[in-house]
This record gives sequence, structure tokens and C-alpha cells, in this order.
Amino acid sequence: MPIYEFACRKCGQKFETFVLSFRDLKEVCCPHCGSEKVQKVMSAFSRCASSGLGGGCGGGSTSRFT
Ligand SMILES: [Zn+2]
Repeated sequence: MPIYEFACRKCGQKFETFVLSFRDLKEVCCPHCGSEKVQKVMSAFSRCASSGLGGGCGGGSTSRFT
């Protein structure tokens, strides 16, 4: 599901919202203060930290450059 996490640059609150397309990314507003200055947060925990195996994160990406 296209749920992205955002962090508001104005009030610092984090929130999650549905983003169906890249157009919607520009229309995301902070639900706390209404500011449009929000930054998408990369949910690193979903790919690397949760796996814990270390196979597909660091080693896999560096091997491509060799
Ligand atoms: Zn805000």
C-alpha cells in the first residue's frame, strides 16, 4: 500500500498519509499545522533493519559497482 511517512519542517511532527502518485506528493500538507513544507521520510526500518540478515542491504548494492 502506498503509505508514506512525512516529517513537517515547520512543527516537526511526523505523520503518514496515502500517496497514490507523485503528483500527490506535492499536495501533502501537515495535518498538525497545515504547512506544505513537509519532507518525505525514508522508512529505512522496512527494508534493512527489519530483515537483520544483511544480505540485501549493504552487500548487495556495493557488489553492483564491482
Ligand atoms: Zn506541521
